[in-house]
Amino acid sequence: MTADIPAPSPESNPSTNDDAAAAKLCGMTHLPTGRVCVQPARHTGSCDFQLPSG
Ligand SMILES: [Zn+2]
Repeated sequence: MTADIPAPSPESNPSTNDDAAAAKLCGMTHLPTGRVCVQPARHTGSCDFQLPSG
């Protein structure tokens, strides 16, 4: 069976964590591991991916 996965909109961030974004964090999600960047929103440098607590 094939999954019908809709294409992400180019106007949105398809891999950003909503909770992190609400907390003014970067929230970029590393899809292969499910880790979320805990750096501040619009931070400079590389993302710091951490496993979300909870
Ligand atoms: Zn980041």
